[in-house]
Amino acid sequence: MLRFHRLVTMRREGSILAVIVMNVVFMSMLFTRIEQERSLKNEITQNKYVEGNYLLDDFNEASDASIPLVDHVKIVERNWTRRTSPQSCPLFPPGLKGKLDLPGNDSIPPSLDNIAGYHPDVKLGSYKPIHCLARYKVAIVIPYRDRAEHLQVLLNHLHPVLKRQQLDYTIYTISFAGNGTFNKAKLINAGFVEVNKDRQYDCFVFHDVDVLVENDHCLYWCSEEPRQLSYYLDKFDYKPLEYKYPCRSESAPERTKLFGGAVMFSQKVFIEVNGMSNLYWGWGGEDDDLYWRIWSKGYDINNPYGENCRFSMIKHQREGYNRANPGRIPLVYHSIGRMPYDGLSNLRYKKLGFQRYPLYVNITVGVGKQHKKMHDFLSSDFNSTKCEKVKMPWE
Ligand code: UDP
Ligand code: MN
Repeated sequence: MLRFHRLVTMRREGSILAVIVMNVVFMSMLFTRIEQERSLKNEITQNKYVEGNYLLDDFNEASDASIPLVDHVKIVERNWTRRTSPQSCPLFPPGLKGKLDLPGNDSIPPSLDNIAGYHPDVKLGSYKPIHCLARYKVAIVIPYRDRAEHLQVLLNHLHPVLKRQQLDYTIYTISFAGNGTFNKAKLINAGFVEVNKDRQYDCFVFHDVDVLVENDHCLYWCSEEPRQLSYYLDKFDYKPLEYKYPCRSESAPERTKLFGGAVMFSQKVFIEVNGMSNLYWGWGGEDDDLYWRIWSKGYDINNPYGENCRFSMIKHQREGYNRANPGRIPLVYHSIGRMPYDGLSNLRYKKLGFQRYPLYVNITVGVGKQHKKMHDFLSSDFNSTKCEKVKMPWE
């Protein structure tokens, strides 16, 4: 009896000890976390380029943000010779159809369940050919908020195309959390980082949810140089678009070319240009900024598939939360000088969700909001012909 009593006491002492040990471990983890956040805050405030936090402080609290991310992307040199192995899929995919039927503007797309039913070989957003080695691993990255019908149309249209093109691919939506002003470029940056963590790809196609390729001979294949897939858009009468920016510095291209809709990047080049600018809140400018970035690194628009790369855009209204950004002209003007500081290197966001659905993978991110001072500055009335005289707040 006595022995039994002692045993019970020992057990009780043991469990008290375990609770104490757990508490100590918990407290030390908490302190480490607080210390990490404190040093992150210091790191941010010490960055001389962001005096006044114009470039970084999209969040109210540094603790809201993840760590500056550049070293989170593992740079993997792609083995481009894989494409010429004896098992590689043919250089001309045999099942291509050519010109494709496009859905009418008022037609109702099949439900996601039905689309998934047509493609049992697409597994959790991914597909790869089974009888040959795909030449390219491609991530399709779609900036997204509240465009469910466009997404259905796109998935219904694009899966069959990519399958016929014999790609090893995954489709991702990068969802903008909340109903603040949209920021497509920052979403793309966050998507790029997160997709890199999911799997290694040869290239990334940053793809608007509402553009549809009209011919499957326009291959979503990778190259080391960036590529404009949606080279000819119905919205612009299929004319390759070039325009002069209202103001241009010596170091900028004389003519700006349309570089949006659907564009392809190798990981190496996207990192080389520091991704996209994080500063374009609302509609417009971020694609021109990206063109100036690639141009400044010696690349240009590249479309090896010619007229096959015609795209059609689903007609829609612009959302209230994506109004034209009044400050886009001076921002583009300073694009090249700002490139080393503004992009992947100072990107901060919060990953809020990750779901693998049958037809795509969704990653939801909070990208914060525009700094108030920056907002006020960019909302001032710019005379666009004199924008080179506009000094940016951080200069
Ligand atoms: N987008 C979105 N929800 C929005 C605004 C934009 O999903 O509220 C995404 C979507 O992929 C869209 C792209 O951003 O295709 C470009 O925006 P939008 O279509 O409004 O611009 P446009 O290219 O038509 O001028
Ligand atoms: Mn659109």
